[in-house]
Amino acid sequence: MNYDKNNIFAKILRGEIPCKKIYENDFILSFHDINPQKKIHALVIPKGEYVDLDHFLKNAKEKEILEFFKGITHVAKILKISNVEGGYRALSNISTNGGQEVPHLHFHIFGGEKIGKMVSN
Ligand code: AMP
Repeated sequence: MNYDKNNIFAKILRGEIPCKKIYENDFILSFHDINPQKKIHALVIPKGEYVDLDHFLKNAKEKEILEFFKGITHVAKILKISNVEGGYRALSNISTNGGQEVPHLHFHIFGGEKIGKMVSN
């Protein structure tokens, strides 16, 4: 699977375009979605070059995988939407039928209000 180094999140990781950063460590970057669908809409991306969840789980080191998923819950805590603060929805779109637009693995984190139906038309 080929990774497109010119995708928009790769450019954000290289600092070529700005983002509204929420959190960063050696493994992940989290920032606010540019077109929020809910009161809180954050994105969490790994720093490594992975197209989607399948590509990530097949190729990433265990430490990268652990830190990525830990990062999602950490960001939820920073945003004060953790499981004891109302909760949130984390989802990742994968490839064409999943509706993925940016070919760099990302989880959306939605919160701050009821998120509603899991799948809409
Ligand atoms: P997906 O359809 O799952 O690939 O989602 C891509 C998401 O990236 C969308 O929710 C976009 O609004 C968001 N997005 C695109 N460009 C940017 C950007 N420059 N900064 C922040 N979010 C972005």
